[in-house]
Amino acid sequence: MSDRTYAAGELVGVLTTEPLGRVLDYRAPEGGCGDGDFVEVPLGPRRVLGVVWGRGKGDWDPAKVRPVSRVLDAPPMRAELRTFLQRAADYTLTPLPQMLRLATRAPGLGEGVAVRRVYRLGGAVPNQLTEARHRVVEALRAFGGAPMTLGELAEEAGCGTSVIKGLVKLGVVVEEDAPRDLPFATLDPAGAAVLAGDQVAAGDALVAAVNGGEYSTTLLKGVTGSGKTEVYLEAVAECIRLGRQALVLLPEIALTAEFLTRVEARFGARPAEWHSGVTQTERRRVWRMVASGQAQFVVGARSALFLPFQRLGLVVVDEEHDTSYKQEEGVLYNARDMAVLRAAVAGCPVVLASATPSLETWANVEAGKYGRLDLSARYGPAEMPDLGVIDMREANLPANSWISAKLGAEIGARLDRGEQSLVFLNRRGYAPVTLCRACGAQVGCDHCDARMVEHRFLKRLVCHQCGATKPMPEACPSCKVEGKMAAVGPGVERMAEEVQARFPQARVAVLSSDLFGSARELKAQIEAIAAGAADIIIGTQIVAKGHNFPLLTLVGVIDADLGLQGSDLRAAERTFQLMRQVAGRAGRSEKRGAAWLQTHQPEHPVIRAILGGDEEAFWRAEAAERKAAGVPPYGRMAGVILSSPDLQQVFDFGAELARRDGPLRKVGAQVFGPAPAPIARVRGRHRVRLLVKAGKLVPLQAALAEWVAQVRVPNNLRMAIDIDPQSF
Ligand code: ADP
Ligand code: ZN
Repeated sequence: MSDRTYAAGELVGVLTTEPLGRVLDYRAPEGGCGDGDFVEVPLGPRRVLGVVWGRGKGDWDPAKVRPVSRVLDAPPMRAELRTFLQRAADYTLTPLPQMLRLATRAPGLGEGVAVRRVYRLGGAVPNQLTEARHRVVEALRAFGGAPMTLGELAEEAGCGTSVIKGLVKLGVVVEEDAPRDLPFATLDPAGAAVLAGDQVAAGDALVAAVNGGEYSTTLLKGVTGSGKTEVYLEAVAECIRLGRQALVLLPEIALTAEFLTRVEARFGARPAEWHSGVTQTERRRVWRMVASGQAQFVVGARSALFLPFQRLGLVVVDEEHDTSYKQEEGVLYNARDMAVLRAAVAGCPVVLASATPSLETWANVEAGKYGRLDLSARYGPAEMPDLGVIDMREANLPANSWISAKLGAEIGARLDRGEQSLVFLNRRGYAPVTLCRACGAQVGCDHCDARMVEHRFLKRLVCHQCGATKPMPEACPSCKVEGKMAAVGPGVERMAEEVQARFPQARVAVLSSDLFGSARELKAQIEAIAAGAADIIIGTQIVAKGHNFPLLTLVGVIDADLGLQGSDLRAAERTFQLMRQVAGRAGRSEKRGAAWLQTHQPEHPVIRAILGGDEEAFWRAEAAERKAAGVPPYGRMAGVILSSPDLQQVFDFGAELARRDGPLRKVGAQVFGPAPAPIARVRGRHRVRLLVKAGKLVPLQAALAEWVAQVRVPNNLRMAIDIDPQSF
């Protein structure tokens, strides 16, 4: 990407976020402009936001080329970020305007220098407030008193703006000019942590990589609690010392709280945060501080990759194997892979940290593309938990109970000693199946093809596929017989019932993502549990991710076989990762922990690998299987998701596309399908998927582009290309 400047009247290309798909010609405005400048340009009758994207092509009638309306008061987008957007668009086959949208999410970008009004709590809050007014007050309180704009406050409180204006008249809410961006507190990298054992070599290697200032990818592998975070924070410290910016990606917002506290302890101040839980006002500040180079350290979700860093010096992807790094809506991309690309373009090292790396990353290490650093033991006195299986074929449990005698005894022993236990079941809700005992019918979702799951705490049926909810019916929707709807199988809520019945004296807490209205509530609950507010935790996979529960010494997995069913080739990898992560929750301080897996197939190779068999042997076996099947990471894959309200149409269209596979066959790629997509119906749209499989070295994107360009997509049909799909 170039970094030219253009005199007034010169032809420039401008990329907008409008779905036109191409860079349009304009004339540089009075005073000129430069590549990367944020500008406002006329488009039809409107004015839209754009970025100057090189010289104009001059392929338009010169008389019709209009001038740029104005250059915005925002730091220009650097060539580096523009190159990243271009390459990410090429890789994911995403139209460039859609990519640009990810990088222009900074609120207020188009507002230029206009002074904005913000709102905060003012004087005393009267006792008698209307429901809506009360929500406004609550919303302002929730964000720790930070001022909010009218729009964001109205959205957060779910009310009209007139309600807020009313509160301003009463003096309860104060309206004022937005303060100028406050600078972030300076992080102090001086105080070094004392690394120990093999942390030292790992820390040195990463610090050297940051110092070298060149692109490299390193897997930092170590069991939970081995000090990976400690080690990469040293690399962050080096980055800050050098005056460069560091970015750490976390897979869950819920994890940031603990992380921020640690950073504050290490550096004396907090990093900038970038994720969906950050207010618009704060985001605007973060965006500007990153662009001006003042933000030294950003911790964020995957979208933080699109921030306008000035001097990016290090990228860390923590829990790199986590599936939530894959964005499954809008632009389909895997943030782990995009982080590698971002670092490559910026010319800086990227660290992928995990206790259970993805097979993709493992294979890249084997192939010599990525480096690897190992932390072999837990830090300090903490040791890895003892792992064992409980053979459920011999458990002889009564109906509607799922805790074996052995696991029950282990929990009882922890209770007696005042230690915590975790009962893990990766199933939200009360029971996975609700059916009518009279006719056998199950309640389906009205909006998609999934069955509804009973959530007793919410007193509703919930669709885990599309999120729709409805009340639990008294009578069977099919045969109309009343009082016969019955729960079959356990979900976490039902496990809580069983646990409470068995241990009436225990304090039981359920941790499941649907039980918390916000990340804030979830965080508060996690902190309370970590401090000892519960004896037994019943949890879904949100407890597997990084949270530190110092009092926890037992993990009981109710159904270790759960992830092994189904045909997904990644099932073994996922189960292995999840079970290892969950087991890693036990015994993170002085007391040794134990993890017990209930299983019906103790001989299964995955179960045996989880139990601490030779981990590298497991990965080699997995790799061999994938190689034989020719699937990622030893082959390339892409999904084409077609959706339409009309099932017949979408299948016919898919079939036609599959027939015209010439451009794919030319490069030796094969197409499978159409078949129902993993999520086969969403919001009234039927979804089918074609899967394309190709050799490792095939120029897949080019072939795909040529292939889909052969057909015209009808208006009511949507097509999305998913490079490297998660399931296959
Ligand atoms: P991981 O990221 O691999 O799960 P952490 O970095 O969170 O591991 O380390 C686990 C615990 O051990 C943390 O409480 C951390 O503060 C502590 N710890 C690890 N290494 C050190 C060290 N060298 N000095 C002091 N504490 C450490
Ligand atoms: Zn649904």
